[in-house]
Amino acid sequence: MTLLEVDTLSVRYPGVTAVDGLTFAIDRGESLGLVGESGSGKTQTAMAIMGLLPADAEVSGDIRVDGRSLLSLAEAELNRVRALEISMVFQDPMQALNPFVRVGDQIARILLEHRLVTEDEAMPRVVDMLDRVGLPDPERQYRAYPHQLSGGMRQRAMIAAALATDPALLIADEPTTALDVTVQAQILDLLEELRDETALLLITHDLGVVAGHCERMLVLDKGARLEEGPTRSLFVSPGHPHTKTLIDAAPRLGSAQPPSPRTSETILAADRVDVIYPEDRLQAVHSADLVLKAGETLALVGESGSGKSSLVRAILGLVTPAGGDIEFNGAALPPDVRQRKPADRKRMSMVFQDPVGSLNPQMRVKDIVGEPIGSAKHASVSATLTRVGLDDSFRDRFPHQLSGGQAQRVAIARAIITQPEVLVCDEAVAALDGTVRQQIVNLLMSIQQDTGLAIIFIAHDLAIVEGLSHQVMVMYLGRPVEIASARDLFSRPGHPYTRALIDAVPEPDPLSDKYSFVRGETPSPIAPPLGCAFHPRCPHAIARCRVELPKPREVDNRMVACHRYEELRDESGSVTN
Ligand code: SF4
Repeated sequence: MTLLEVDTLSVRYPGVTAVDGLTFAIDRGESLGLVGESGSGKTQTAMAIMGLLPADAEVSGDIRVDGRSLLSLAEAELNRVRALEISMVFQDPMQALNPFVRVGDQIARILLEHRLVTEDEAMPRVVDMLDRVGLPDPERQYRAYPHQLSGGMRQRAMIAAALATDPALLIADEPTTALDVTVQAQILDLLEELRDETALLLITHDLGVVAGHCERMLVLDKGARLEEGPTRSLFVSPGHPHTKTLIDAAPRLGSAQPPSPRTSETILAADRVDVIYPEDRLQAVHSADLVLKAGETLALVGESGSGKSSLVRAILGLVTPAGGDIEFNGAALPPDVRQRKPADRKRMSMVFQDPVGSLNPQMRVKDIVGEPIGSAKHASVSATLTRVGLDDSFRDRFPHQLSGGQAQRVAIARAIITQPEVLVCDEAVAALDGTVRQQIVNLLMSIQQDTGLAIIFIAHDLAIVEGLSHQVMVMYLGRPVEIASARDLFSRPGHPYTRALIDAVPEPDPLSDKYSFVRGETPSPIAPPLGCAFHPRCPHAIARCRVELPKPREVDNRMVACHRYEELRDESGSVTN
């Protein structure tokens, strides 16, 4: 039975059409994935359904819930339908949760406002809901403020708040984009479990997420519908070339390996580096070793709080390590960047995650790129812009006049203009759409091929690093737990945490039966668990793991830190799950 009908919906702003004559429907209990790149109109469609568009939006067409037109309902009735029948979960739960009110009280308020419970019934009902969405110790979480919960727990609390009124439809707008890959898998499983009761409109740019969790999908481009159909059929035979491009651009494991580096000379070595932030009483990195060869890409992967960024900041001299040594081309580097010679500083550059935010908004592209060499007029500015695929028409633009991909090309141009030997990319493609992300990855690989640049590539998503890395270092709570060649690590993960990260990557294949086994989230680095820090989440933990820290060991061409490495191999050499 049809629950939601969107009928020739258009959303226009002065000079811009955000949604263009869109028509679709969702049945009760069904899940529909709304997919497309940034700016394709996905969120504008959701906001129109929720009645949350800004005042200058001009809306036409119709939106019906159970046959009743929302656009012609009186305000009070409209609010009632929207509050009781449709709920929304956002990418950033802080946007929807009031930071000054306890989580449980916020959900209780929703129930009381709509007279769904009495004062006495409210708390037990909310505790029950927090339990249902998988929050551990729900009575305690009831009393927590939003900032006291981890990202994954906040997202669960927001799902509990969205489901408080038993809505017939849940709209989830990129609900897992800000989460670590293992937590993403848990939240998606939760949304799947809830599907029997509630229809789901899942908005995402990630085709892997749609493949595993939506029966049907609708592809949007420039505000208009490109095609719609059962997810399986569209994956097998997409009717539109753009759908095929989106499917092909979805990160998937098993992609091609990059060409071998030309030499095997070590360019950068970190030895037993510790990073401590005394003000936070936090040790972010514990005795980490790292070896980077010329012309090679070393990926650092792990969830938030794993210490990846802190380790590279120590290597770059941006934080002073509390211990350990860093060598560049065989010579010791002073720990603080201010003590390093200008020539040495130029040998390492960095590209950050937020392409537009990392560029000075008041500077033109030519000045941004020319700044490290002290001149925007220098011929190498034009040559470097050409190298990153931007023609001379970009020289005079400001960052806000660039798309995310163009801004990241400018950031790369700025980083390579000094001809560094090492480039650190800190989640440099995480904020980009699939096709643009692949273009930037290809650009980095071609610069590496031409110049022999060594790259440290920080990412939380294994599917992205597989195609470009030679070596991979997996970190957990400040310690490397496995280092291996990309080929070995992806085909035969040796550490249970590596296996968990690989299993959590959503597969852009509707027929995949991949199962993610790891539960819970990374514990706080302020109070890491004793013994092996992964033991509270590890399905293979034994008594020894709870008390004894596993030492990193060289075995089978890899470094691995697990007491049970030998016992846990299956016939292929991979750790069992
Ligand atoms: Fe799991 Fe124990 Fe290995 Fe840690 S040492 S990863 S808890 S089996």
